Amino acid sequence: MDNVIDGKKISEEIRSELKQSIKYEMLKPSIAVIQVGDNEASNTYVKMKEKACDEVGIYFRHFKFEEGESELSIINKIKELNNDEYVNGVIIQLPLPDGYNEKRLVNTIINSKDVDGLTDINTGRLVSGRKTLVPCTAAAVIELLKRSNVEISGKHVVLVGRGKLTCRPLIQLFLNEDATVTVCHSKTKDLGYVTRHADILVTAVGINNIITSDMVKDGAVVIDVGINYETGKISGDVDFDNVSKKASLITKTPGGVGPMTVTMLLKNTVYCYLNRKK
Ligand code: NAP
Repeated sequence: MDNVIDGKKISEEIRSELKQSIKYEMLKPSIAVIQVGDNEASNTYVKMKEKACDEVGIYFRHFKFEEGESELSIINKIKELNNDEYVNGVIIQLPLPDGYNEKRLVNTIINSKDVDGLTDINTGRLVSGRKTLVPCTAAAVIELLKRSNVEISGKHVVLVGRGKLTCRPLIQLFLNEDATVTVCHSKTKDLGYVTRHADILVTAVGINNIITSDMVKDGAVVIDVGINYETGKISGDVDFDNVSKKASLITKTPGGVGPMTVTMLLKNTVYCYLNRKK
């Protein structure tokens, strides 16, 4: 199908660009990932990040704490990494086990190394329209649209979801691009009525097939961020087989936004390296 936005291919293009500039400009970016506990999904995500870093030439460090480790010792590690001139990006692998104060830990990361774009200061900068580090999945959505030559200015964007990793930052990012933005969530009445008005529809809910073809306007661009496992295989929020017949462009899950999210983490890390205090 030629209306599918191939996130894997676009991601490979960006990784190749990053690899070239790291090699030929002799950059030495590095990232540190802090993980607490042994959550299976987190182990997989950390491995994916490590593999992607290796692929482009970003030095990867992994600090894994046992569940039950005191918050203070994790905070001390973050502070040590904040002060380490050879570390350019610091992330805390989420979700944390119960009992840890996520906000406190994330906000211990110095803003200039916050490659996940999640500290309160970086969130505030984004909302006030200043240049800042942007959460990777939200950045991935914008990058996919731009690299697919989708005009955003003047378009009506409907976001389904208001989570802090994707849709909240996307509100500002789309406004920055002069789109008109509508946000839907679990209390939205008649979701289909709203989504049918979208020129660009972005969904980050986590419910298989919540978006069906009758909820999509002919010719709309559809970006599916959702990841669901309940059917035994990975699927998104969108009924792809039917919606793809109406959409002018559409992402597929897997192979859409997912690979791009890690790629934007790599991009943010190189950005932090280039903007580090000399
Ligand atoms: P989240 O913070 O829990 O947000 C989910 C949103 O969906 C909430 O705003 C919720 O509304 C809304 N929602 C729930 N039921 C709804 C309904 N019936 N109608 C309309 N909206 C509804 O989750 P998230 O972190 O944003 O993640 C969302 C999905 O994206 C998950 O499947 C996750 O795995 C996936 N994801 C994928 C990537 C990637 O790289 N591809 C990255 C991050 C997340 P309320 O606010 O009212 O509760």
